[in-house]
Amino acid sequence: MINIELSKRQQQIIEIVKEQEPITSEQIAKLLNVTRATLRPDLAILTMSGILDARPKVGYFYSGKSEANLFTQQIKNVKVSDIMSVPSIVSEETPVYEAIVTLFLEDVGTIFVVSKGSLVGVVSRKDFLKSAIGGIDINKVPVGMIMTRKPNIITVMGDENALHAAVKIIEHEVDSLPVVEKTMVEDKEHLKVVGKVSKSNITKLFVELCKD
Ligand code: ADP
Repeated sequence: MINIELSKRQQQIIEIVKEQEPITSEQIAKLLNVTRATLRPDLAILTMSGILDARPKVGYFYSGKSEANLFTQQIKNVKVSDIMSVPSIVSEETPVYEAIVTLFLEDVGTIFVVSKGSLVGVVSRKDFLKSAIGGIDINKVPVGMIMTRKPNIITVMGDENALHAAVKIIEHEVDSLPVVEKTMVEDKEHLKVVGKVSKSNITKLFVELCKD
């Protein structure tokens, strides 16, 4: 099995499906007292990881035989380092204006912010829009003032499973994750950015696996 952390609700869904298969998402939603829309990401994760099987117009089955699921097995072999791309990085002092130029020139939606070679923040399209609406002087204000900062940054490591990265992207509702190497320097965690894994990388992987 792929080593993904299942939420309490995902575990409840598995138990329900085990007992009542085949069962539709509507019926599961009713039993859990939530809407179908709420369940959608959970069901996507459980079927993507091969724990549940979905048959159109029939419903969900518990797939005790997930090891036999070829797609799952293939995903299991893919690591974040296999699919990551080159990250766009700026330093904390970079003016917002320059960071926006970087965003356009490098054709990305998210930029990672570093200080002394260590990851300190993430800045994305919405942050730039917010700062523009807020009326700040984008030539003067540094990107460090508008970024999402540590410890609120969701990261991933190169040797983690690609599926695990996809789950983090969905759960935290972000477009991309910095791929980091963690070391301790004088009792402080040092995060070296070595790559980036985004929704695009995951989509490409999905297409590649389906081709096979
Ligand atoms: P966009 O701004 O293009 O919609 P996101 O949905 O990824 O992109 O970003 C939404 C918010 O989440 C922004 O405030 C951004 O700083 C933050 N964010 C983006 N990526 C991460 C991440 N890996 N960890 C924590 N916060 C992030």
